[in-house]
Amino acid sequence: MIASTVGQTPQLYCVGGRRDPKHFIVMSFRTLLLILVLAPLALMGGAMALGGIIPVPEWGRGYVLRFDLDEAQQPLSLPPVAGPDDLSRPLVVIDAGHGGRDPGAIGTDPEGRQIKEKDITLALALALRDELLRQGGVRVALTRADDRLLPLSYRPEIARLLEADLFISIHADSAGERDDVSGASIYTLSDAASSEAAARFAARENDADRLNGVTIEGQSEAVSAILVGLSQQRTQEEALAFADLVLREGEDRLAFVPQPRRAGALAVLRAPDVPSVLFESGFVTNLKDRARLTTADGRARYAAVLSRAVAVYFARRLPTTASGG
Ligand SMILES: [Zn+2]
Repeated sequence: MIASTVGQTPQLYCVGGRRDPKHFIVMSFRTLLLILVLAPLALMGGAMALGGIIPVPEWGRGYVLRFDLDEAQQPLSLPPVAGPDDLSRPLVVIDAGHGGRDPGAIGTDPEGRQIKEKDITLALALALRDELLRQGGVRVALTRADDRLLPLSYRPEIARLLEADLFISIHADSAGERDDVSGASIYTLSDAASSEAAARFAARENDADRLNGVTIEGQSEAVSAILVGLSQQRTQEEALAFADLVLREGEDRLAFVPQPRRAGALAVLRAPDVPSVLFESGFVTNLKDRARLTTADGRARYAAVLSRAVAVYFARRLPTTASGG
């Protein structure tokens, strides 16, 4: 069949004076075939030629290029929001630090078992969520609700996209070889990091965004930088107020390090419009902290302190108009 087709076709391949549309169809089909066959060959040839100059995979080479399609490459997806079905209720986003193949700090208990920060932070986050929902009045979302890797930049971004009113990132610390260091601490963004983040945010989000209800879209760069700066300043004040409340509520209930109120250039706290704190719950390298962090009783204590701080924080922010006679 193939041979007879070839035998019959020569006249079809010549483009003569006759502009028969059929000829064009046949020619273009043939061209297409040529392209289909030759293009990959040309590409392979080119790749092999280039292989001498730049390292591309090639037969006989002792290595391969590996493309890890890891979880971090997944697009950001927004978590569900739990609690009252009422958008006027404040939203708290709880961020369990680390996860997946990032274990965070690792401690070893007397039985030789590894205690991983990622497990402690998730258990604490879940305990705090449950306590907040039990207490009522606020909506709650978790940046992660299971053991998964979540890029650092996604965490504050989730809070921003959900238009959260408060962001609490939960971590646990390590003191390396020292097992005598213990206690919780709470971080807010340092002033220097705060203004730097504001400037960067203004530059990045200049074209279209909204901060604390102010639209910066269409503003000049200078004006939007000022708006972002103001927003960040207000956000910072609120974050500091919440950090103080955690220390106040936890004073007699939790063990803190000697100077528990800290500031740092922490990427996870850089949302310019969501008050954000990072709570270092304790040290996985300390026996007492580990006991507090890995038991339901211990977690309940942290959850009670943090949820009380949340309740007072939002109660203070309620409009101070007369609440009816
Ligand atoms: Zn951590």
